[in-house]
Amino acid sequence: MATVLDYDIKFLPGVGEKRAGVLARELGIRTFGDLLYYFPFRYVDRTKLFRIGDIGPDAPAYIQVRARVTGMAYEGEGRKRRLRVFVSDGSGTADLVWFSGTKWIEKRIEAGREYIVFGRPALFRGELSFVHPEIDLVEALVNRPGGGLQGVYSTTEKLSGVQLGSKGIYKLVCNLWEQVQGHITETLPPSVVAAHGLLPLGEALRNIHFPQSQELLRQAEYRLKFEELLGIQLAILSRRVTRTTAADGFFFPRVGEFFNGFYRTKLPFELTGAQKRVVKEIRADTVTGHQMNRLLQGDVGSGKTLVALMAMLLAADNGFQACMMVPTEILARQHFASITKMVEGVGVRVAVLTGSTKKRERDGILEELASGGLHILIGTHALIEERVKFDNLGLVVIDEQHRFGVEQRARMWTKNSRPPHVLVMTATPIPRTLAMTLYGDLDVSVIDELPPGRKPILTRHLYDSQRMKLFGFLRSEIARGRQVYVVYPLIKESEKMDYKDLYDGFETMSREFPLPQYRLSVVHGKLPAEEKEEGMRAFREGTTQIMVATSVIEVGVDVPNATVMVIESAERFGLSQLHQLRGRVGRGGEQSYCILMSDDRLSREARARLDAMVETNDGFRLSELDLKLRGAGDIGGTQQSGTAFELKIASLAKDAAVVEYARRAAEEILAADPSLTLPENALLARLKGRYVNRGETDFGMIS
Ligand code: ADP
Ligand code: MG
Repeated sequence: MATVLDYDIKFLPGVGEKRAGVLARELGIRTFGDLLYYFPFRYVDRTKLFRIGDIGPDAPAYIQVRARVTGMAYEGEGRKRRLRVFVSDGSGTADLVWFSGTKWIEKRIEAGREYIVFGRPALFRGELSFVHPEIDLVEALVNRPGGGLQGVYSTTEKLSGVQLGSKGIYKLVCNLWEQVQGHITETLPPSVVAAHGLLPLGEALRNIHFPQSQELLRQAEYRLKFEELLGIQLAILSRRVTRTTAADGFFFPRVGEFFNGFYRTKLPFELTGAQKRVVKEIRADTVTGHQMNRLLQGDVGSGKTLVALMAMLLAADNGFQACMMVPTEILARQHFASITKMVEGVGVRVAVLTGSTKKRERDGILEELASGGLHILIGTHALIEERVKFDNLGLVVIDEQHRFGVEQRARMWTKNSRPPHVLVMTATPIPRTLAMTLYGDLDVSVIDELPPGRKPILTRHLYDSQRMKLFGFLRSEIARGRQVYVVYPLIKESEKMDYKDLYDGFETMSREFPLPQYRLSVVHGKLPAEEKEEGMRAFREGTTQIMVATSVIEVGVDVPNATVMVIESAERFGLSQLHQLRGRVGRGGEQSYCILMSDDRLSREARARLDAMVETNDGFRLSELDLKLRGAGDIGGTQQSGTAFELKIASLAKDAAVVEYARRAAEEILAADPSLTLPENALLARLKGRYVNRGETDFGMIS
């Protein structure tokens, strides 16, 4: 049933063919309904007027005055030509200046009349001016809908080019409202509206565009956010219902010789309480008859690998194979080395497979895998390949899962006729509200406890100009028998430059730390596998004291004697990456350090990231902060990027409470009507339908 909301936007008064085209291209607005759901990103208080005489250097960024035009003049030549309009409000005078669009302004301004002027005040030698302010006749404003608050819509250069700046869009919305008011039908069942004290949809839409008061604006936002988040939660939780009602999960009831052999005789230390709890959770998951789908979060160094190993041994005890997929070759080999050592003599067969495994060795592994002789296979993306065939794959572990794409992970699920149990692990902690939204169909375990005896890492921020201080510190640490990482950023778009940074850095380091006293390893992604492995080995065995590397060492490398992590151009790394890198040290009993080197000049956001690193070691706090910093960067943009769900109004960073309410509401609704087939839930089924195919649980997008 088509409604006025489905009308083509070009038919809205003030739009027409040309602007319609720009609206579609720039904002995806094609219908009346699209525009109706294009919300302001902030509001200006149009009731608050400043007196010109009171405006000083500490005035807000944007202000508004009510003043009478006393005259105007053109000044300057050529491109510097400008229109100056003089205004006065009795308390003082100001200039309004336009460099472009002057003809249009000139026509609209009449000397002697009173205007509301809104803009950014600039004070120069005691003279107040506004460049390109918004102006309205006092009478015109009085006739606008809405209370004192006026919406500001985000716009683009192309839109401004067709007179659709923020104010132009606002005017279109005014026209739109005249057409659609009275035609807006409720999209939530009356029971939900009543139970959660929501504004009716029509009221909410009116107040989001034309707030009658601060309070009504707040209620309008709440209603619209709640609806959006409810739709997402219904979609996510329905997927979960589907998974947990299918009874095709493998059974791992037996705790046998492999698990016990390791646990009783080989485990080199006591498990932490958190590790024990997670192992129990996994054991419980694997005897329900449903497929396990568990996310294991634990800060770097919290001992996730061990938990994964025990889960794999459990699979082996029950006649199933297990595999562990990791993002890099270095990490695969390291896990293989440490796991083989840990299960020595237990009787379990382990192998490693990567892109650089030689053909003969690979053929042997594949054969043993297909015949069922091999219990545990560790590897990189190479595990995904078609020719890698298991006899009976029962468990897939994915380490540092944010490094894999959705598709890569999904391919592993098809390596058995029934889907194997899945354990994905991440050291990039995900704030709770985000986890609930993005990974709502996974169960989440958290290791919130580090192995005993770790000293918190001390983090310092030094500027490039303080480099001599850094070298002095490194010499003293090396003199005490410690080892050092020096890491350079690697950002795909400018690989050439990145490698230049790395090699320049390597040269400087070789000069400052010369042979024979000092030895350096260099490792980066472009090296052949053997050289990489050789560099790693030399460092691990203590033959080299300094490891110069790109961020390939970010994940998982474990050298307990390394106590210093120097991160070069730290301002170019994201917060979660910085935290990951820092986690490479602090693994032994010695005091460890992380030193963030940066340019002397920093953007405000980069400074906030580095300050946060210095302040805290808590990965969860850092990831909350990361979300806030990035969330803040999105305000004013035309969309919130970084999530699979395109959120129109809610923010996962700022609306944590609303996420929780929506989650609970969705749980209650689905508990009573899992497939939303009851007639009173028809609107909810539609709401859910808007989100079902979106928001694939892609961990990659927030890493
Ligand atoms: P993650 O993968 O979570 O970053 P790892 O599994 O690499 O952490 O563990 C970090 C280090 O801590 C490893 O050297 C590991 O052997 C050690 N470790 C793990 N669990 C414990 C424990 N319960 N007690 C002492 N050391 C532990
Ligand atoms: Mg790890």
